[in-house]
Amino acid sequence: MIPTNVMPFPQIQYSMLCGVCPKCGKSDGFVNLGKEHWFICRDHKTKWFAGVNMFEGWENQTVAQAQSIESMLNSYKDVVPLREVDGEHKLGNHVL
Ligand SMILES: [Zn+2]
Repeated sequence: MIPTNVMPFPQIQYSMLCGVCPKCGKSDGFVNLGKEHWFICRDHKTKWFAGVNMFEGWENQTVAQAQSIESMLNSYKDVVPLREVDGEHKLGNHVL
């Protein structure tokens, strides 16, 4: 059963910021678990934590939606995402 409340996440700059599945380099989007945003890959059943209260919409969730998300996330594996921005953190060298 695939929950229908996964947010599509087409904006590539956000998926680079928030990371992508380490196995396939993609993300199916994110789900809200309360205020927490979790990105997922359905193909590999992976999940990774993106942050708290970064995106709109979590307030509108019903209890039933939250429960279905929680049980989905429980069956997914916690992974460290690939972040394409990692290569550009050298900007930190320019601190005065
Ligand atoms: Zn994947």
